[in-house]
Amino acid sequence: MDFLDNAIDVAKETFQVVSKKTGEIVTTQKQKFNIASLENKRSKDFEKLGEIYYNLIKNSEIADEKTKKLVDAIIKKDNEIYRLKKELNDAVSKKTCPNCKTNISKTAVYCSSCGAKVED
Ligand SMILES: [Zn+2]
Repeated sequence: MDFLDNAIDVAKETFQVVSKKTGEIVTTQKQKFNIASLENKRSKDFEKLGEIYYNLIKNSEIADEKTKKLVDAIIKKDNEIYRLKKELNDAVSKKTCPNCKTNISKTAVYCSSCGAKVED
């Protein structure tokens, strides 16, 4: 009987150790999640702050030589993004052939399906 009681005690202790470790793992995961979540939120705050500051410099509400180059680089990229998006839109935009109602390229002169002349 002593042996059995002893075995149960050992089992209980082992279980408690495992539970404690599981609890620690859960706590660690929670902490890691909370840290990552806060870091993510902080990054978004930085982004918003950057945008506010960017607009102040862009609109000449404040002058800052240190960041002017960066602002200019962003403006240049914005213009390029705009140009590329417009190019993409023009490339994918379609018009409907008045003869056969097939969607064809906006820039097409003749319908690629029925061959009818397509004018804007
Ligand atoms: Zn057609």
